[in-house]
Amino acid sequence: MKEDCIFCKIAKGKIPSATIYEDNHFAVILDVNPATKGHCLIIPKEHFDNIYDLDGETAGKLFSLATCIARALKDALKCDGLNVIQNNGEIAGQTVNHFHLHLIPRYEGDGVDLTWPQHEVSQDELEEIRKTVKKAI
Ligand code: AMP
Ligand code: ZN
Repeated sequence: MKEDCIFCKIAKGKIPSATIYEDNHFAVILDVNPATKGHCLIIPKEHFDNIYDLDGETAGKLFSLATCIARALKDALKCDGLNVIQNNGEIAGQTVNHFHLHLIPRYEGDGVDLTWPQHEVSQDELEEIRKTVKKAI
């Protein structure tokens, strides 16, 4: 548990939340400022700042749980689609520095816009990036 971490406090039940699922490792809560009806967050109970810190075993369990919650949202809320989003770092939109996965049900005409600019890139640039990143894996 990290002091002054709001999601650690929620995971420990020290701050109330609208919890839709809980087990030893995770809490799934409704986002307090939802993008759409049913917007929820999967939160590991252990504190990880972001994706760089998260271990593979927890990540695997978390994504397995995400598939289960996604089906439940679809069945219960009859959403037309669903986005899975996870932000790391301020520039990427992370506001709570405790790893969490957003599940955002989507509805026709919901007004949510998650688009980004699409740039042209040369084959040489792609190849340079491919080699650089591949080396780092
Ligand atoms: P992010 O911007 O990816 O870090 O997402 C943080 C999310 O946590 C935002 O969508 C907030 O609305 C949500 N949030 C912050 N505090 C709470 C809280 N106490 N209970 C539920 N959701 C929260
Ligand atoms: Zn935390």
